Amino acid sequence: ASTWANVPQGPPAILGITEAFKADPFEKKINLGVGAYRDDQGKPYVLPSVRKAEEKVVASRLNKEYAGITGVPEFTKAAAVLAYGKDSSALDRLAITQSISGTGALRIGAAFLARFYPGAKTIYIPTPSWANHAAVFKDAGLQVEKYAYYNKETIGLDFEGMLADINKAPNGSLFLFHACAHNPTGVDPTVDQWKQIEAAVKAKGHFAFFDMAYQGFASGDIHKDAFAVRHFVAQGHNICLAQSFAKNMGLYGERVGAFSMVCADAEERKRVDSQIKILVRPMYSNPPIHGARIAAEILNTPALYDQWLGEVKGMADRIITMRALLKENLEKLGSKHDWSHITSQIGMFAYTGLTPEQMDTLAKEHSVYATRDGRISVAGITSENVARLAEAIFKVKG
Ligand code: PMP
Repeated sequence: ASTWANVPQGPPAILGITEAFKADPFEKKINLGVGAYRDDQGKPYVLPSVRKAEEKVVASRLNKEYAGITGVPEFTKAAAVLAYGKDSSALDRLAITQSISGTGALRIGAAFLARFYPGAKTIYIPTPSWANHAAVFKDAGLQVEKYAYYNKETIGLDFEGMLADINKAPNGSLFLFHACAHNPTGVDPTVDQWKQIEAAVKAKGHFAFFDMAYQGFASGDIHKDAFAVRHFVAQGHNICLAQSFAKNMGLYGERVGAFSMVCADAEERKRVDSQIKILVRPMYSNPPIHGARIAAEILNTPALYDQWLGEVKGMADRIITMRALLKENLEKLGSKHDWSHITSQIGMFAYTGLTPEQMDTLAKEHSVYATRDGRISVAGITSENVARLAEAIFKVKG
């Protein structure tokens, strides 16, 4: 028999939606499965600030030598300031490394916790969470448990359930939080709720791991979106953080990210940094340089940085506008459901509250494709397709 005769067939990944979409001959079909921003023509979008920065990087004819294990320092320094704020007490005690986008940052963090966290190696993630979280953490050697997060009835946050689970977990547990624009629900805690979450986490001595994949992309304001991260640090939590520049710079395939750990002091930072290097070295030796150079160029050049802030806000605003239009169209059709969650949710995704069967009908009868959990990518909505989308949802759900 072949060496791999016993390898079982795995289930299809999320990309199945794209295949079904492609196979559909209907010209007005709508793909709301993609996790990437689209412009109002439904096309992938390269930010003009990214184009400019890239041209500068290319024109400077830098060499292609390896970066160090922790990446391009001009990039990681600026990424830290972006996340924590320029006056943050965390900056001079921060161990940070460039990573293979947000996923790689999560993986480095998970490996570090698996190797060094002194408490139980179980991480609590929200129900639901980004589908890859559990896989990343398990593959890195952590156990995964769930905490309450989403309330199906209200299509909102199950705040009481979340606090109860934080309180129920053994003291000193690991908790993963989506910093902003929770994926897949689009439901975020309010500032006041974050304050209560922080207090509960502190009272229990839990350790907070933040995943910030959408800074700026959620509200359009990089500071507002970093509130939870900065609040925890200000309250004395030595958190760790996964950052991605896939969405807010549109650098998806360039794989630009960072993992950082807030340490007690500079001496601890040095020890943690040495161990991050020991973890990264056998994983991929050192990260790719091109995308990090682009991001560094933007973050470190004031004019480009300002331009980028405007472009991030432009993306966030288009998404916010599409949410409003979808809700408006559903109401115009006479839908009796309360669709306010569509506009109160934030970020790339909206949880419609549609059942898997209703999602199947959307695909089969209306050529509208999205995941069966009822999540739609608002980035796939345009001024042109929003009316047809609303009609389809109205026909399926009423
Ligand atoms: N975390 C969350 C919550 C995400 O939604 C994503 C992207 N879909 C990521 C992390 C990581 O993405 P990437 O590796 O492309 O940065």
